[in-house]
Amino acid sequence: MPISQEFAARLLPVLPAVVETYPTPFHIYDERGIVDTHRELVAAFDGAPYRQYFAVKALPNPTVLRTLLAEGSGLDCASPVELELAERLGARADDVVFTSNNTTVAEYESALKAGALITFDDRSLLDKVDRLPELVAFRVAPHGTAAGSALMGSATHSKFGVPLAELADAYRAAHRRGVRRFGIHGMICANELNLERAVRAAVEVVELGARIAAETGIELEYVNIGGGLGIPYRPTERPIDIRAYASAILAARRRAFTTHRPRIVTEIGRYLTGPHGVLVSQVVNRCRKGQDIVGLDASMSALMRPGYYGAYHHISLPYAAGRPETLVDVVGSLCENNDKFGVDRLLPAPAEGDIALIHDTGAHGHAMGFTYNGRLRPAELLLTAAGEVVEIRRAETFDDYLATARWTPTKIMESTR
Ligand SMILES: *Cc1c(COP(=O)(O)O)cnc(C)c1O
Repeated sequence: MPISQEFAARLLPVLPAVVETYPTPFHIYDERGIVDTHRELVAAFDGAPYRQYFAVKALPNPTVLRTLLAEGSGLDCASPVELELAERLGARADDVVFTSNNTTVAEYESALKAGALITFDDRSLLDKVDRLPELVAFRVAPHGTAAGSALMGSATHSKFGVPLAELADAYRAAHRRGVRRFGIHGMICANELNLERAVRAAVEVVELGARIAAETGIELEYVNIGGGLGIPYRPTERPIDIRAYASAILAARRRAFTTHRPRIVTEIGRYLTGPHGVLVSQVVNRCRKGQDIVGLDASMSALMRPGYYGAYHHISLPYAAGRPETLVDVVGSLCENNDKFGVDRLLPAPAEGDIALIHDTGAHGHAMGFTYNGRLRPAELLLTAAGEVVEIRRAETFDDYLATARWTPTKIMESTR
């Protein structure tokens, strides 16, 4: 959806001057917007025991993560590299949750060493490891509401979590190994914009937690409902009512647990930063090949979602208002036909040199980028709360592209002949 009026009012007056001195393409994030959304989210839980851990994978930039940590957010890590990033940012053990998938013992050990709250995605990991953390949480496989949703995949083919029927037994097994503190994790929606479905998915996890606790006699310290809240990518969509979402979850917590009420934990990524970023690029080509084509200086290396999932990202030419609108395809330079930011978009007669904005790139944007075709990942800038524009990641160069290549091959095994 078009960026918020507040972000537009902060960004649009300064952007032409930025583009004059700083090469496009780049992502630019709105610090004020990110901080405000984080505060609104926390306020929505209204003083109840609650902690949000930002899903690092959505926007793994140190400056943004540091800002969120300073606001009291924790970090949700899914790999040893993300754990190391959290550690370098000074996150303390209780600031980190580790929710991974297809986890190796070595990865588990690194999370244990970091002191993170560990989510066990699979029961078999319990038996593979010598040392267990003080507190064990299992992730429940998608079920109920989640079954068959497009982004989560079909429930029977999900690679995530412990199947519902084996969940109680997994807790009993952990208890037999001496674990006395427990949590539960269930992320059963993805990019969900419908309030009722998002609430139902979260409430199902809260209620499941209460059933498991009653059935096994354990006490749950927290219920982690993961991330998965949607944002309005399309102009016709509306943001989720975060206050209604939080109060429905708190009501379910009060209903389902009469004593020892667990705290609520979230690992929200997209909802927090997604709307507060744009990819800024310039029109470098106009041509006609069956359809009108607008070529940008950015490619899917900067934003995978349209090519990867056919995801919609709103596109605008903020300084071209008033021109007659025309139907165009907006493309990048990659030698792949899915390198298109938008198909059949109505834009004000685009011309070479126009600044084009691709909206909602603040989550799962730069982070998903890649360097196929030698199209390198762009820079990340931040519009600070004080109104400055700062570089928080430079664009990649040829040297970065080849940083891991050996110009002289390095022998790893002698010839056996
Ligand atoms: C991806 C992911 C998140 C964050 O999802 P968003 O859609 O960005 O909110 C949180 N938890 C887990 C386990 C994830 O895989």
